[in-house]
Amino acid sequence: MNPVETAGCFTGRNDGLIIMRFFKTPAIVLRHYNSGEADKLLVLYSIKYGKIKAIAKGARKTRSKYGSSVEPFSHNELMLYKKEGKELYTITGCNTVQSHSNLREDINFFVTASYIAELVDKMTEENDAHPEIFLMLDEVLSAITEACREKAMLVFTVKLLLLSGYKLCLDRCACCGMIAKRVLERVKFSPVQGGIICPKCQLRDLDAKNILWQYVDYINKFENMAVSKIDSIELSLLHKKELSDIIHSYLFCHISGELKTNKFIRQWQKNKAVVPSSSISVYT
Ligand SMILES: [Zn+2]
Repeated sequence: MNPVETAGCFTGRNDGLIIMRFFKTPAIVLRHYNSGEADKLLVLYSIKYGKIKAIAKGARKTRSKYGSSVEPFSHNELMLYKKEGKELYTITGCNTVQSHSNLREDINFFVTASYIAELVDKMTEENDAHPEIFLMLDEVLSAITEACREKAMLVFTVKLLLLSGYKLCLDRCACCGMIAKRVLERVKFSPVQGGIICPKCQLRDLDAKNILWQYVDYINKFENMAVSKIDSIELSLLHKKELSDIIHSYLFCHISGELKTNKFIRQWQKNKAVVPSSSISVYT
């Protein structure tokens, strides 16, 4: 969608005209940074324009008009403007649709939502609208519960790969295209090739690993299910771990390294006893 659809007014200045364009869109905060003395710079995923960056002036003042709407994961209806030729939007008004405050009040929920926000940030381009990604993001943030946190991350990752054009190749060899046959219980999976590979091609890919066909079935199921149905999936601890390893080995090859939040989760699981307060800012 072209972001000039709501082109606005013209403002005069001594050295010429500056064209200001005004916008209105639902958007979810992926992360925020401090900027200047009292401002916040937000990375947002909006329904109309995809990922955008916007400044919330005065957002760090005690009596800021923004409240929780500039906090990570909050879903707002935003009014913005942008000067022609500039990348950064300025927020002029906002109405909170869903604060998602529960995701900021519990470390487990915070880490889960941070992972999802970081993934969306890493896998999307600015000003490239995919309303279906916005809707799925909104849906998963509302669906996170203590019982389904890990499943939410797995299902969301698989579905985001699909929507972003990084679908795993699971019905044929990702290298030569030969249709897969289920002769054995296991099949080789190549993170570099982005899917399963045939016996002939695996000779050229020493990093390919043996995985159960059952995991291929799970990934196919995740691609086709609604995020709101994650509670209906039964996954053992071992299945969750192995599926996570498969999916993240692929992400590692294709989105330039490991997600900060995923690294944090792995280290945290190793030493679950203590969470240093400085580590809580894993991503957002
Ligand atoms: Zn092959």
